[in-house]
Amino acid sequence: MGQTLQEGGNAEFGSSVIQDVWACDTLEKAKAFIASPRHASDDESPYKIKMQNYVGGAFTTPSSSSTTTTSQYIDAINPKTGRVFGQVPISSADEVEHTLRAATEAFGSWSATPAAARSKHLQRVAGLIQENRELFAVWESIDQGKTLERARVEVDRAVSNFNYFSTFILHQQTAARVVDGSNILTYEHRSPAGVFALISPWNMPLYLLTWKMAPCLAFGCTAVAKPSEVTSMTAFLLCEVFRRAGLPPGAMNVVFGDGATTGSALVRSPLVRGGVSFTGGTATGIQIRRDTADQIYKHLSLELGGKNPTLVFGDVELDKAVQTAAMAAFENQGEICLCGSRIYVQDSIYNDFVAASTAYVQATYKCGERVGAVVSHQHYTKIRSYLLLAQSEGATFSSSTSTSTSNPETIIPPADPTNGYWIPPVILTDVPPTSRLLQDEIFGPVATISRFATEDEAVALANENPNGLAAVLLTRDGGRMRRVGERLEAGLVWVNCWLVRELGTPFGGMKSSGTGREGGEYSRDVFTHVRTLHMPLQ
Ligand code: NDP
Repeated sequence: MGQTLQEGGNAEFGSSVIQDVWACDTLEKAKAFIASPRHASDDESPYKIKMQNYVGGAFTTPSSSSTTTTSQYIDAINPKTGRVFGQVPISSADEVEHTLRAATEAFGSWSATPAAARSKHLQRVAGLIQENRELFAVWESIDQGKTLERARVEVDRAVSNFNYFSTFILHQQTAARVVDGSNILTYEHRSPAGVFALISPWNMPLYLLTWKMAPCLAFGCTAVAKPSEVTSMTAFLLCEVFRRAGLPPGAMNVVFGDGATTGSALVRSPLVRGGVSFTGGTATGIQIRRDTADQIYKHLSLELGGKNPTLVFGDVELDKAVQTAAMAAFENQGEICLCGSRIYVQDSIYNDFVAASTAYVQATYKCGERVGAVVSHQHYTKIRSYLLLAQSEGATFSSSTSTSTSNPETIIPPADPTNGYWIPPVILTDVPPTSRLLQDEIFGPVATISRFATEDEAVALANENPNGLAAVLLTRDGGRMRRVGERLEAGLVWVNCWLVRELGTPFGGMKSSGTGREGGEYSRDVFTHVRTLHMPLQ
């Protein structure tokens, strides 16, 4: 199957590609490396960065001798320039199966490893990511389009994911009961559920992948992970961290590839005995549910899309409300599943809020500063199509680049961008209530502002959407915080704040935003089996 590239590396690095990339821990070095000519001895690839799978503790290149699908490569593109900087393999179904065998082989010993020893492994992983914070941030920013500052925050969150679960497993409790009127003791016993498929999207690549990997390893499962084909770079670097941390071979494996070939083969495989932890779009989540319908034993955790409301009541402090709503709408170019892209404002402050938001976003959310490029040409085209829809429906535009005009012609970005996928944040008002702009997840720097009169109307508008991932509630009225907050159909409700996370709290959505929760003991439920033992004591 795959060809092992350990020989391409040396004692210090798992592969020569990793060795080259590892030295590029500043934007300047990374850009210079990407731009420098290839060595004459390089293989046929026109790019120096040709990512490799990580299978059984070694970097491997997918084999072209596969019996079902010939391995191919797709381009890794820097969204800020639109230029290719590397190649990502599309792993075949055979390659996936081969990798799953490595995870299956490792499961026996890893699942039997004491929690304290697993904890140490996770701490070493956390420490190595922390030590190489800038390396990860630089490549995340190049690969995903996000700002370097935003990428650093997400690297820190990846460190927290491993740290959190490394200690969580050290303090487990179990419930024991005596059957009433008898001398029979019962207790709950948990064991690792098996080999997992971990599949993540492109918007927060390292952060979301480690949110799955850390609890998976912590609770004694092994896995094959597949990051999005669009943003694979930090997962590739993470493999070197696993190698350096001395994680037992096969405990965590990574295959690269697209959803249709690699992802689909992974979730369907009967070797995935534990389950699938998936974060991505709702349509893909539905497909995964179909693909695993007859494998009833698989645990499914589906964290899917959102179209989240932000409710702004008339009693708010205007400046603070404007800042929170803008941050919730435009952070990471609006490419966070939790972004509040539907803003509803009470009549009494509607005009003031729109004016203040427009001014604030123009001053604060500038492309190349607080705003990065959107992830791909395909996604750019999708976002642009929604702006064209807004234009055709007569919505009013204001953008972070236009100080004096609201002419959509000057705001909608060109169909064929020549230097990266840049879309300045756009606020849309006067959007027809039936518009798809208020229903579909655009997942970009586009937010609508609409009005409401009463509390009941605000709740109805917020809930008028098939998704139910998150909601933001801005008010100073304590009673309303509960009255409204507890009626919102959303897995996460933030009152006068946004994106605050405590890693033990349940994370996940209602309605079409997914099934299952992750975080703390909710992740434990995903990655373990629970059995009840009944023991007569005499
Ligand atoms: P997709 O659903 O397109 O892809 C997610 C992952 O699934 C990718 O790795 C993709 O591979 C893979 N995939 C695609 N098809 C299949 C398949 N048939 N079987 C198995 N895997 C498959 O989502 P995006 O990457 O476009 O991410 C954006 C979406 O993710 C948004 O809807 C967003 O709301 C959601 N999201 C949800 C979050 C949450 O916590 N609820 C958090 C972050 C994002 P590839 O890309 O390589 O084709």
